[in-house]
Order: sequence, then C-alpha cells, then structure tokens
Amino acid sequence: MKTVDILMPRPMLPIVQEQLDAAFNVHKLFEADDPDGRLAEIGPKIRGVALAGGQVNAQLLSKIPNAEIIASFGVGYDQINTVDCLASNVMVTHTPDVLTDEVADTAMGLLLMTVREFGQAERWLRDGKWVKDGPYPLTGATLQGRTLGVFGLGRIGKEIARRAEAFGLKIHYHGRHQQKGVDYPYHATLKELAAACDTLMVVAPGGPETEHAVNAEVLEALGPEGIVINIGRGTVVDETALIAALENGTIYGAGLDVFEDEPNVPEKLMQLPRVTLLPHVGSASQATRNAMGQLVVDNLKSWFATGKAVTAVPEMR
Ligand code: NDP
Repeated sequence: MKTVDILMPRPMLPIVQEQLDAAFNVHKLFEADDPDGRLAEIGPKIRGVALAGGQVNAQLLSKIPNAEIIASFGVGYDQINTVDCLASNVMVTHTPDVLTDEVADTAMGLLLMTVREFGQAERWLRDGKWVKDGPYPLTGATLQGRTLGVFGLGRIGKEIARRAEAFGLKIHYHGRHQQKGVDYPYHATLKELAAACDTLMVVAPGGPETEHAVNAEVLEALGPEGIVINIGRGTVVDETALIAALENGTIYGAGLDVFEDEPNVPEKLMQLPRVTLLPHVGSASQATRNAMGQLVVDNLKSWFATGKAVTAVPEMR
C-alpha cells in the first residue's frame, strides 16, 4: 500500500511521473481546476515535493507543514530558499553531475556560434542569400588566440575549461575561492578577471550573491573585443547593462542560454546583430533530462526508505 503523499506542482517527465506514481500517492497540482484550493485541502498530508521550477519559501512551506523533502529537478536551486527549508527542517536535493558534460558541450557550442556567427550564417543560407548575394560576410571575431575567463569554476566550469583548452584557449577564472589542484590563473574579483580576458564564460549560480555581478563596470573591463557567454543564470548578468554595452560597442558580442525573465527575452537583444540566443537548453537532451529525472526519483525513494538523500544541496550536508 502506498503510504507517502507527494506533491507535484508542475508536470514532470514520464520517467519521473511513472516511477513516483508506482511508489507514492502523487498529487498533481497542475491537473487541478483550482490549484490553491486543492493545495489547501491536501497540504497537511504532503511529505515530499517533486519540483520542476517555481519558488519554494516559508509561504509555501507553511501550506505543507509536514513536508520532509523537496526533490528539485536541476542543479541550480536559487528559486529555493534553503534558509527557510533549514528552519522548517526540510531536506533539499538537486541533480548535479549527470548534466555537467551536456551543459559544458552546450557552452562550447554557444561560444562557437557567437564568435563565428553560425546561427546568422545558417539563416543567410536558408533565406537564399548565398545564391542571391554571395558568401556570408567574414566574421570580425575568431576563437583563435582568445583568453577565456570562467566565472564559476565548479563542476560545469571545469568541464568547459577542459574543452576550451583543447580548442587552444588560455583559461583564467574567478569564484569566491581559489580551486584546489587547478593551475589556471585565479582572480580575486570579477572585474580583474574581465580585464585579464576577452571572453567571459558565466557559469556561476543565481541568487542574491551573484545578482547582476556582470555589470557595466565588468563589461567595460572586458573591452571592445569582449564576448560574454552566459550558461549559468540570467540574473547573474545585468541585461540592461549588457544591451547598452553591445549597442555602444563597449563589448563585441554575447551568447545567452539564460535570461533575467524567462521565457521573455528583451526585444532589443533580438535585434542586435552579434548576439546568439538559446531558449535555456543547456541540459536539454532526452538522455540527460532523463538522468536528472531519475535522480529526483532516487532522492525521494531513498529518503522515504532510509531517511537519507542521494544528492542533498551543499547547505544540507
Ligand atoms: P558548482 O556548485 O559545481 O559550481 C559553481 C561555481 O560557482 C563554483 O566554482 C563556485 O566557486 C562559484 N560560485 C558560487 N557562488 C558564487 C558567488 N557568490 N560568487 C562567485 N562565485 C560563486 O555548480 P555547477 O557547475 O554544477 O553548476 C553551476 C550553475 O550552472 C548552476 O548553479 C546553474 O545555475 C547553472 N546551470 C545552467 C544550466 C543551463 O541549462 N543553462 C544547466 C545546469 C546548470 P566558489 O565556491 O569558490 O565561489
């Protein structure tokens, strides 16, 4: 008999829904006509949450007072207030490692697309301009000889750096700490990193500590050859300052997979010529998303079978 009640606020992958349905009483809030009313009704019996986005804070926790665990889909968890969760004795898990290579691959793709304008070149071909107007114009930028500054040399940042080294790029980095066993030059501030490189790879987490860390001053330090790639979180880059820097030629170009107000992308970014925009697809292959989903299932099953999570967020370890 299924004895544990799980809340699923938003739809999740079939691999997640099927396994959770088999093991738990899953309450799919997204199927309810009146989600708030439904939550008020079932809230007290909820012991776990299978989360695919959406805020978790004291307000939500007060509606599910017997919750023990939030199993979140994704490695970034800036939408979850871990202080509130700790205060309510609620475990939080995420899905690290299984997406690292996929996101690092996406970052390299986005970097190449941005530097060499491959998206624009493909549109040129599809629009018939190759036949009508001749070859696509030579790109003003090249990847060769670039120095990559990695903001956030964690799991994904290190894999991006390893790939970028194979492309012949020099690597520098910034984070709160110097990484053990890493020889790349470390910069104590983001501005110093930007001044030392011409290509800034943003792969730091979101949240209040990193909000708008990439600001007008950092973009100025990056300089006119500068290219910003953001594969981390939209909030880390001040989008208004970025647009101004692109318009004024303070930097050269940008490649973005994440935005401040997803899925809304500022019209001005869409209009700028040397910008590549992806709809947050860093980890978005079926294989990788299924591996992430399996970790959500494994965390919930492990928690209710043994009282231990598989991949707790660092604050809970
Ligand atoms: P890690 O925790 O392994 O790495 C994060 C890195 O950022 C660490 O090196 C850390 O170094 C640094 N960092 C953390 N907080 C700060 C801070 N306040 N100031 C400066 N540096 C900081 O995480 P992952 O590499 O696994 O993931 C990184 C991020 O990538 C995720 O949080 C997520 O936002 C994003 N992501 C995006 C995806 C996409 O689809 N675009 C997919 C997956 C992840 P230190 O502790 O020394 O500061």
